[in-house]
Amino acid sequence: MDKYDVIVVGAGAAGMMAAGRAAEMGAKVLLIEKMNQPGRKLRITGKGRCNLTNVAPMREFMEQVGDNWRFLKHAFNTFFSNELIEFFQTKKVDITVERGGRAFPTSELAGDIFTALIRWVERNKVDIRKEVKVEKLLIEDNIINGVEVYGGHTYYADKVIVATGGMSYPATGSTGDGYKLATDAGHTIINVRPALVPLETAGDIAPQLQGLSLKNVKVNVWLDGKKLGEAFGEMMFTHFGLTGPIILTLSRRFSQEIYDKKPLIFAIDLKPALDDQKLDARLLRDLNEHGKMKFQSVLRLLLPGKLVDIAADLLKISQDKLCNQISSEERKRIRLWLKDFRFTITGSRSFAEAIITSGGVDVKEVDPKTMQSKLVHGLYFAGEVMDLDANTGGYNLQIAFSTAWLAGESCAKTS
Ligand SMILES: Cc1cc2nc3c(=O)[nH]c(=O)nc-3n(C[C@H](O)[C@H](O)[C@H](O)COP(=O)(O)OP(=O)(O)OC[C@H]3O[C@@H](n4cnc5c(N)ncnc54)[C@H](O)[C@@H]3O)c2cc1C
Repeated sequence: MDKYDVIVVGAGAAGMMAAGRAAEMGAKVLLIEKMNQPGRKLRITGKGRCNLTNVAPMREFMEQVGDNWRFLKHAFNTFFSNELIEFFQTKKVDITVERGGRAFPTSELAGDIFTALIRWVERNKVDIRKEVKVEKLLIEDNIINGVEVYGGHTYYADKVIVATGGMSYPATGSTGDGYKLATDAGHTIINVRPALVPLETAGDIAPQLQGLSLKNVKVNVWLDGKKLGEAFGEMMFTHFGLTGPIILTLSRRFSQEIYDKKPLIFAIDLKPALDDQKLDARLLRDLNEHGKMKFQSVLRLLLPGKLVDIAADLLKISQDKLCNQISSEERKRIRLWLKDFRFTITGSRSFAEAIITSGGVDVKEVDPKTMQSKLVHGLYFAGEVMDLDANTGGYNLQIAFSTAWLAGESCAKTS
C-alpha cells in the first residue's frame, strides 16, 4: 500500500516548500504534480527574475495584502521575508534587494530559486510524482486518509496539504482543481476572479492610444459618483483598455466590483502635482506666452504627442485656434479634463493574463496557526488556493512560502 505521513497536492512554490519542510522535519512525504515539471509558474515569475519577497516591515507588508491579512500573522511570525532570504542564501542563492524592497536572486534567474527549492526537496527524500493529477480527497467521518489520482490509483496519508494554486496562467497547471477538492470536502469557496490583470474599457479612446505609457499620473476610481480609491504611478494604454502597475494594483483592489460588472470609472489625473489653482495659473501663463500661436502648441507642452489630437477632440477646441482666443470657459474645460480624463471599465482580461487569482478557500474555515482545515481533520491548505492575495512586489510568493512552511511544519509535528 502507498502509505505516507504527508501528501502534498501540487508542486508549485507552496507545494515544494510545504513538502520540503515536512520532510526536513522527518515526515515521509509524497509530492504530486499534474504537469510534467514542478514549479512552472515559479520559473516565470517576475518576468523570469522571480521577485521572491519584499523586505518591507510586517506592518507595511500587510498593507499590500488584501482583506484577509490578519489570517497571515501567525504564518509570517513563523517564516517571513528574512527567513525566506536566509533560506535561499544557505542554499547558495545570493539575493539582491531592489527599489521598493523587492528581493530577487542576484543572478536575476527565477530558475535559480526553483533549482535551490527542488534540490532541497529531493535532498530531504520527498517522493515526487509528475504528470499525476489528484482528482479526489479520501475523507471518512471528517478525517482525511489519502487521495485518489486520475486513473483511480490511491495514495494514503493522515495528512494532505492542498497547494494547487489559483486559476491564473492556466498553462502552468493552475486550473482551479483545488477549489473542487475543497468544495467536496465541505469548504466554502469565495468567488474566484482574475486580479493583477489588465482592464478593458468602453469606447475607442484607449485603443487609439495603444502603446502610450504615462508616468507619475494618478488614477481616481469612481462608482455612482462616489470616489472609491486612487493610485499613483505608471500606466499604459492597450488595444483593449488599460494596463501597467497602477492599473494592476487597482484591478486587485476592485476585483469584486469589476467581477460584478459595476460601471467603475477610472479617471486619470494627468497633472497630479498641480492643484486646481496652480494648474489654472500654469494654463494662463502658457496660453499668454504662446498667445499668437495655435492651441496645439500649448497642448504639446502639456501632453505626450499621442494625446494631443484626442485631447483637442474631447475638449471640442480646435487645435488651430490661437491661444489668445481661448476663453476662460475653455480654459476651465482644459483644466478639468487634465485632472479627470475618464474611462469606463467594462471588465478585466481573463485568467490567462491575470498574475493572481482573488478569492478561493474561505480562510475562516482554516486554522491560521496550523493551516489545517477546521472541517476535515488532517486536511491542510497552502498558497494561492486560499482566499489570500496581495499587490505585486514579492508579496504573493511570500504568502505562498509562509503558509506552506507553516502547513509542512504543522503536519510533521503531528505525524
Ligand atoms: C506571470 C506571473 C508572474 C508572477 N510573478 C510574481 C513575482 O515576481 N512575485 C510574486 O510574489 N508573485 C508572482 N506571481 C504570483 C505567484 O507566482 C503565485 O502567487 C504563486 O506561484 C502561488 O503559488 P502556489 O504554489 O500557491 O500555486 P502555483 O504556483 O500556481 O502552483 C500550483 C501547482 O499545483 C499543480 N496542480 C494543480 N492542480 C493539481 C492537481 N489536481 N493535481 C496535482 N497537481 C496540481 C499545478 O500544476 C501547479 O504546479 C506571478 C504570477 C504570474 C502568473
